[in-house]
Amino acid sequence: MSQSRAIYPGSFDPVTYGHLDVISRAAHLFESVIVAVATSEGKGPLFSVEDRIEMLKESTADNPAIEVVPLSGLLVDFARERGVFTVIRGLRAVSDFEFEFQMALMNRKLEARLETIFLTPKEDYTYLSSRIVKEVARLGGDVSPFVPPPASLKLKKILK
Ligand code: ADP
Repeated sequence: MSQSRAIYPGSFDPVTYGHLDVISRAAHLFESVIVAVATSEGKGPLFSVEDRIEMLKESTADNPAIEVVPLSGLLVDFARERGVFTVIRGLRAVSDFEFEFQMALMNRKLEARLETIFLTPKEDYTYLSSRIVKEVARLGGDVSPFVPPPASLKLKKILK
């Protein structure tokens, strides 16, 4: 049933505890969650899509209901291919709202069946973003409180 599955798309460059919090909340609401990792180079990701997928897979390995796959092209095309029309996005603060609102409405324009559900993380993670984690890592800070061990390791490696 399409209602029991949801897609959580994003860059995950790299996955943070904020993303994992959203994934686990989604996994409580849906029978399975497809984490779709955007391959698009538009944002100039630090990590390859393969690395981003690997970090996510290792960090969610304990839950077989979570699938991690690459996403190239439009989310609506992916949704149609999969027959899943529920999209999860995370909202940390008002600052996320404008962009997320625009995306949700555009996606719905492109595919009327698509619904976006917003989940908010535990307050401890509302300040977390992949961007700020990369900044801290670049400057030599300890990122282990913010990202799961596979991401911590890969950040150390890539920034060496
Ligand atoms: P994108 O490039 O698609 O924004 P991100 O990986 O930055 O990809 O984020 C994917 C989704 O997860 C977005 O909806 C974003 O708002 C949300 N998100 C990112 N970090 C957090 C966090 N710390 N807590 C909750 N949601 C988050």
